[in-house]
Amino acid sequence: MSNYKIALLDGDGIGPEIMTEAVKVLELVAERNNITFDLIHAPFGASAYFECGHPFPEDTKKVCDEAHAILKGPIGLSHEESQKIPVDMQPERGALLPLRRRYNTYANFRPVFLPQGLAHFSPLKPEIIGDGIDIMIIRELVGGLYFGDKETGTTPEGVRYVRETLEYDENQIRRIAIVAFDTAMKRKKVLHNIHKSNVLKSSVLWNEIMAEVGKDYPEVRVENILVDAAATYLCLNPGRFDVMVMENMFGDILSDQGGGILGSLGLMPSACLGDDKAYYEPSHGSAPDIAGKNIANPYSMIGSVAMMLEMSFGMDQESKNVWHAMQSVFADGYSTADLSKPGSGVNMIDTQAFGDRVVE
Ligand code: ATP
Ligand code: MG
Repeated sequence: MSNYKIALLDGDGIGPEIMTEAVKVLELVAERNNITFDLIHAPFGASAYFECGHPFPEDTKKVCDEAHAILKGPIGLSHEESQKIPVDMQPERGALLPLRRRYNTYANFRPVFLPQGLAHFSPLKPEIIGDGIDIMIIRELVGGLYFGDKETGTTPEGVRYVRETLEYDENQIRRIAIVAFDTAMKRKKVLHNIHKSNVLKSSVLWNEIMAEVGKDYPEVRVENILVDAAATYLCLNPGRFDVMVMENMFGDILSDQGGGILGSLGLMPSACLGDDKAYYEPSHGSAPDIAGKNIANPYSMIGSVAMMLEMSFGMDQESKNVWHAMQSVFADGYSTADLSKPGSGVNMIDTQAFGDRVVE
């Protein structure tokens, strides 16, 4: 009988609400498989700052260190609320980036998935969606602008300036390239390498290393595409993409666009893998505008559980069951407010009811 420890970082905004639904699913999976999940809640994000004075408290680090996997809710505050916290204690700078750095979770998998039967969720026309949308965005998560040196200052002439550095070395690029090619081998053997080499030197090295690694994967067809062009094609012809690999910042932006073409950021789960530890989180933020109303879509959080079951615990069949259960809720004609606008023909249910139906 297996016994896995899972750290649960509820986070901010809609985090606790969608975490509650994910926990229902974890408890069911444990029961069905006669295993134990030790679920340990720990404070993280702005709520942790207000509760214990730090967005990533030492006790939370300990819980995470000891866990087999981490399930993390979204963090962050509205622009106005965030003014109340010192810059270095901001949830992104003080908790999220340190979490990624601590466990070196360099490989971020962000599935952008919508079966043809749910094309009505998307703002794109059915003829553009065709057979459905099925893309795996692979985002490098511990390098680039997010982690480069930063400096703010004023010149002797009194002009304020800021400098941020975008840095990658070949080892960082090679390890994410290998993840991307391995993923392409398991899927359609097509890899879109997203870059901006006509402007950025970092993309020149990126492309060189991608080409080098590609020699070990002769079966994978690689297409190099500029990030701006990729943004257009995601709207005009998402079917041309299968696996897409890109640096940190490009991945942040294109994956939110991925949520956009599906119809809601609530459909965006993710997995963040390092060599020794993985954590799982919705791709979206804490959505302060809808927090506490029991209307957020928990798909992103429950989908992150499905990714954990497969990628951390090797429970492939239970992972498939969770995906299937969520798709069934949609197929039965139900969804949360983000995807059930008046006139859409979709019956609106709340966050809790969505979780209950998945469990059912
Ligand atoms: P971050 O910078 O942390 O990624 P963001 O500025 O991209 O945050 P989000 O908080 O991700 O913003 O969300 C943008 C909007 O998308 C929210 O205000 C909310 O209306 C919607 N949204 C996000 N997640 C969900 C969800 N799970 N269910 C329903 N709507 C959501
Ligand atoms: Mg965002």
